[in-house]
Amino acid sequence: MSNIVAVVGRPNVGKSTFFNRMIQRREAIIDAESGVTRDRHYGKSEWNGKEFSLIDTGGYVENSDDVFQNEIDKQVHLAIEEADAIVFLVDVKDGLTAMDEDVAQLLRRSKKPVFLVVNKVDSSKNIQDAMEFYALGLGEYYNISAINGSGTGELLDDLVKALPEKTLKNDESLPKFTVVGRPNAGKSSFINALIGEKRYIVTDVAGTTRDAIDTHYNRFGFDFKLVDTAGIRRKAKVKENLEFYSVMRSVRAIESSDVCMLLVDAQRGFDGQVQNIFWLVQRNKKGIVILVNKWDLVEKETNSVKDFKAHILHKIEPFTDVPIVFISVVNKQRIFKAIETAVEVYQNRSKRIKTRKLNDVLLPVIQKFPPPAVKGKYVKIKFITQLPTHHPQFAFFCNLPQYIKDPYKRFLENKIRENFDFKGVPIDIYMRKK
Ligand code: GDP
Ligand code: GDP
Repeated sequence: MSNIVAVVGRPNVGKSTFFNRMIQRREAIIDAESGVTRDRHYGKSEWNGKEFSLIDTGGYVENSDDVFQNEIDKQVHLAIEEADAIVFLVDVKDGLTAMDEDVAQLLRRSKKPVFLVVNKVDSSKNIQDAMEFYALGLGEYYNISAINGSGTGELLDDLVKALPEKTLKNDESLPKFTVVGRPNAGKSSFINALIGEKRYIVTDVAGTTRDAIDTHYNRFGFDFKLVDTAGIRRKAKVKENLEFYSVMRSVRAIESSDVCMLLVDAQRGFDGQVQNIFWLVQRNKKGIVILVNKWDLVEKETNSVKDFKAHILHKIEPFTDVPIVFISVVNKQRIFKAIETAVEVYQNRSKRIKTRKLNDVLLPVIQKFPPPAVKGKYVKIKFITQLPTHHPQFAFFCNLPQYIKDPYKRFLENKIRENFDFKGVPIDIYMRKK
């Protein structure tokens, strides 16, 4: 994961000119290779071997006169929250404005590194004029000319020095959660409720160069990546064949995730399409949490929850060990519970049971209920071990592995589930010759 540098400042100070200069070399290469038109406000840059992402917040501000301050403030707040460093651009030709002072006031409270950059210092005769920006109370500033590039080297030297070191571990070891479901189940609403509208914008932008929109998400004390499938669809503005498209997208998103949060519209129920997505998740051996959304729209009677659960369990037979949470995104009901459950499922999926413990628990059960004899031959299970794989797989070592049939394997799986928590996680059982 690379560092994010946000460029803030009022309109016309030269943000996009600066942005383009920063990302030019690198992005030109990428463009040529992929043939993809890059986002004009989000790009990657590199200096002294350190890579960072640059966001031109100006690109997301509506350019009409009356909304300015409010919109800029929002972007600055966003930058303070999301970015690792902030470049605050001002314009030497216009001089210090009230709007600059406003932005500076917000930035002074930020704990992130802020770089005050005086732009349009095209020649030495502007240097004197730049002094007035000391009044912003942000300390030293950098004189640059975004148009001719002067001064940018010095700024970049200091900028990359201020960026925190990001380790790979930070990114790749993060649990990946994917929100899947039929169109209109409430996926975008759910993600928005988690991330918040404004942050979502940055996310959306950051994802345009990739397949899935990933957000490094940290809330309620949990750290994970959220993969949004709804956002992609909207981005692509695909109107026709929505169902097909969303399934296609789901497949790819599911493949790259650890846990899938399957959103179900309570009013529509767990229909065939939802079933398909469920099977996709199972087939890919991913963790799953079923979230029954729009629960606010359901007339509650004594048995509503119980009945709905039964309805789902019937549809997903033979699976039973799947968490189901009833939520209302609109009322922000049990959203925390949903995340908490997904984290539990993630932990279950990465769980390793010690061989000793496994045998202590399972061998007595097997002794009591041994596999049925086949043609007069008795199968003897000698020991069990969990394999060192990404999702739980168990090997049962025995004399006649070929004689153990599916029903007994299911019995073994159930015994594992009864004794160890593997809720929401597929388990594989293998019989091995010993
Ligand atoms: P933004 O609205 O902050 O993104 O500003 P732009 O990058 O669109 O620039 C606004 C205007 O300032 C454009 O006409 C640019 O050509 C001009 N500009 C940007 N940087 C410089 C500079 O370093 N020197 C001069 N003289 N003009 C610049
Ligand atoms: P997506 O296609 O899965 O991303 O679904 P959206 O998030 O766009 O939601 C589809 C519609 O369902 C929107 O009109 C939402 O306002 C509505 N919706 C989402 N969650 C809830 C909920 O919990 N309760 C109610 N009543 N409506 C919801």
